[in-house]
Amino acid sequence: MSHTSTHTYAKLEVSKAAYDEIRALLLQADYGHLIHSYRTLDEVIDMSGIALMSKPLPPCGIPSHPDDCECSVVNVVEQNGSQLS
Ligand SMILES: [Zn+2]
Repeated sequence: MSHTSTHTYAKLEVSKAAYDEIRALLLQADYGHLIHSYRTLDEVIDMSGIALMSKPLPPCGIPSHPDDCECSVVNVVEQNGSQLS
């Protein structure tokens, strides 16, 4: 075996766009040490201690919200179990 590592983790493959976005945010925040095998074909991000959260979707701008609306306003209403009038 030519490649050895002291790190063990399960690998989660995400889209290039998602990977690049997370990578850029970590670099911005000075978490570059989490990027292992930096700039090689084996590069991975060790997410230990990092919790992902979703950016809320923007409101759709339609006050009545269509039935298939997935905007953040509807999601917040559902989570709170209350209704907008
Ligand atoms: Zn909506």
